[in-house]
Amino acid sequence: MRILGIEGTAWAASAAVYRFDPDAPLDSDPPFVETDAYQPESGGIHPREAAEHMGEAIPTVVETALDAADGPIDAVAFSRGPGLGPCLRIVGTAARALAGTLDVPLIGVNHMVAHLEIGRHGSGFDSPVCLNASGANAHLLGYHDGRYRVLGETMDTGVGNAIDKFTRHVGWSHPGGPKVEAAAEGGEYVDLPYVVKGMDFSFSGLMSAAKDAYDEGTPVEDVCFSLQETIFAMLTEVAERALSLTGSDELVLGGGVGQNERLREMLSTMCADRGAAFHAPEPRYLRDNAGMIAVLGAKMYAAGDELAIEDSAVDPNFRPDEVDVTWRSDESV
Ligand code: ATP
Repeated sequence: MRILGIEGTAWAASAAVYRFDPDAPLDSDPPFVETDAYQPESGGIHPREAAEHMGEAIPTVVETALDAADGPIDAVAFSRGPGLGPCLRIVGTAARALAGTLDVPLIGVNHMVAHLEIGRHGSGFDSPVCLNASGANAHLLGYHDGRYRVLGETMDTGVGNAIDKFTRHVGWSHPGGPKVEAAAEGGEYVDLPYVVKGMDFSFSGLMSAAKDAYDEGTPVEDVCFSLQETIFAMLTEVAERALSLTGSDELVLGGGVGQNERLREMLSTMCADRGAAFHAPEPRYLRDNAGMIAVLGAKMYAAGDELAIEDSAVDPNFRPDEVDVTWRSDESV
């Protein structure tokens, strides 16, 4: 079975072809992925510019992926949300047109569940808790009774967007996360607000404090170091409590911020300390990519989870806990 996946929720115009074998580990037959990234000239992601990028780049990346396919496509999977509405609408239109032209079913994939499933797919884990640390989101998910439940989440911005706001303030180009990681080397700790409320966390006050510290003359490497230590400790604390509450001993990481080595180190130390297993997929599967859409699309297709054209409207606020998990038959955590 061969699935074409299309991703375009924000910055990555991406297409992938995946030959599905439910028993094969991801690295034995990885999806072919072609991505064209939108790079803002200044500031952060502008929705209109990002959508223009999608309109220009999606046809090319899809053509490249289809050229690389070594056989017919059985279904077209696309990111239905969450994401930027103008980008999603372009990807949705492309997916519907392709499914019609190829005369194959359409599969509507939740982008956040795809971040989780690509990690689970490569891990050999049964029912992990997942920390999705991405640009526009931050949450802990655990499987229970046919759905991924949100166990904890950000009360304001996504974790990557929060970091990017600080780097814009400093005058660094988008994306800011890798620059903060590089600048944090050799930094020293300064106090920043640590905001965890129950199972939820908040970044906006922390970011204002980081901007103030920088404006008042704290060296930028100290602010970057402290930002990482504070934000990642908050995420690690809630991830640990999610493991404890669910009784799971498996943690997977998803999302572009998961590319950060310090975050992975903290999570892996926490898991080792409590006897849990930790898995983070390769960086190319952590950031937005159509490989994860094709992989989850394949599982949904195998489960008969198809989307009628008339029901295929995109949803910029599509939450992971709205998705019926049709492709798993295992017991709840
Ligand atoms: P979502 O998946 O929630 O829609 P998104 O589309 O913005 O979010 P992702 O590709 O998951 O995207 O993540 C992009 C984010 O990852 C950006 O905010 C970027 O700054 C951040 N990021 C990338 N590399 C690193 C890193 N090494 N350290 C910290 N953050 C990083």
